[in-house]
Amino acid sequence: MTATDEHSARTMDIADATNRFLRQAVALARANVDEGGRPFGAVVVRDGEVIATGVNEIHRSGDITDHAELLALRAVARAHGSDALKGAAVYASGHPCPMCLAAMRMAGVGSVAYAYSNADAEPFGLSTAAIYDDLRRPLGEQSMSIRHVPVADDATAAGDDELYAHWAQRNRRP
Ligand SMILES: [Zn+2]
Repeated sequence: MTATDEHSARTMDIADATNRFLRQAVALARANVDEGGRPFGAVVVRDGEVIATGVNEIHRSGDITDHAELLALRAVARAHGSDALKGAAVYASGHPCPMCLAAMRMAGVGSVAYAYSNADAEPFGLSTAAIYDDLRRPLGEQSMSIRHVPVADDATAAGDDELYAHWAQRNRRP
């Protein structure tokens, strides 16, 4: 086998695995629809193994943050600790929303693949493209009001360290 053959064989393996995990995410999403939920599922993979799955559970909890990806991340963190997410791969049935994308970034997830695009979702009212567009604008021009209002808490006013300095003091290494 030449180096090129080996490379293309490896590329095929990766494509096969990506396909398999995405099909699993879509199957989870479809099953969730059949249970009255929204069409979103996610799979977290580490070293080629599925370590957690999630589906959108808003229909059960009424909690707008119960997205498939977030629930899968939480399941990993609870079972294996947050470090297990560093470098992990997430396969989502649909284009992740900004909340889930940010959570994956903060968790150190290494890669994300999704099966259905926001363009696919748009005709069904399931796209988050408008929120992405809004978030790209300067804070002062976005639809939600966000303001920086510096205040001193009572302890700071009484002469103690400010909040972050207080934290740094508590966590200073010997
Ligand atoms: Zn989301």
